[in-house]
Amino acid sequence: MPLESPSRVSHKFCHAGPVSSTRKGSFREPQPYGLPQMPTTRFTTQFLLSALSAEQFPAPSVSEIAFLGRSNVGKSSLLNALVGEKAAKVSQTPGRTRAINFFALLDQRQHPRLLFADLPGYGYAKISKSISAGWPAFIEPYLAMRSMLKLCICLVDSNVPPQQSDRQLIDWLRHAGRDFAVVATKVDRLSGNERTRNVLALKKGLELEDVLPVSAKTGYGVKELWARLEAAGSE
Ligand code: GDP
Repeated sequence: MPLESPSRVSHKFCHAGPVSSTRKGSFREPQPYGLPQMPTTRFTTQFLLSALSAEQFPAPSVSEIAFLGRSNVGKSSLLNALVGEKAAKVSQTPGRTRAINFFALLDQRQHPRLLFADLPGYGYAKISKSISAGWPAFIEPYLAMRSMLKLCICLVDSNVPPQQSDRQLIDWLRHAGRDFAVVATKVDRLSGNERTRNVLALKKGLELEDVLPVSAKTGYGVKELWARLEAAGSE
């Protein structure tokens, strides 16, 4: 059974980019400093449930996007920047950190447009055998078999060199044929040169063509990330 009924934990928010709107010029001009791009479209995010086993996953409905990363990579902060504070708080609640937390993004008519799945952070220890060693057993089947999963957002820390555990996850996703995008978090901590150098190192170490630098603190890259999420959602 779901731990919490969908109607109990919901809140309104303005997220940083429209899921339903692709109108040109619908974003405001980039802020010179500070907040993420503020949206022109109002959405509601609704916490659906925390799943501790495959039986508890919500019935597949709309496109789903999964968020993955090592503990402390900045996943909650980025989710916060994307969909509002409560979503991140739910995901950090003790007991829910080992679960997959599902959120629905509702349009103005309260119809779900997209689901976000916040996966448990994996550890710093080298992952052996399976990507889900040290993860609850239902994570790997989720990634392998979830039919509406369109995109995996893999978070890596831009301040640290490429990690074996991240490499293993990415290799696994490649092998499974899952579409994924890698975002490098906390880039506000780096100078321009460091950012370029570290992003290059991540691309090389993880064998990636593209890495999107983001900062939950300044909002850097959040608009671009939304564009990617939106594209995946409309597939
Ligand atoms: P999680 O464990 O992956 O959910 O990571 P959190 O979102 O809780 O962040 C872990 C730590 O990194 C916290 O101390 C955050 O304040 C910090 N952090 C997260 N995102 C950013 C960012 O964009 N910039 C900076 N400077 N710090 C960040």
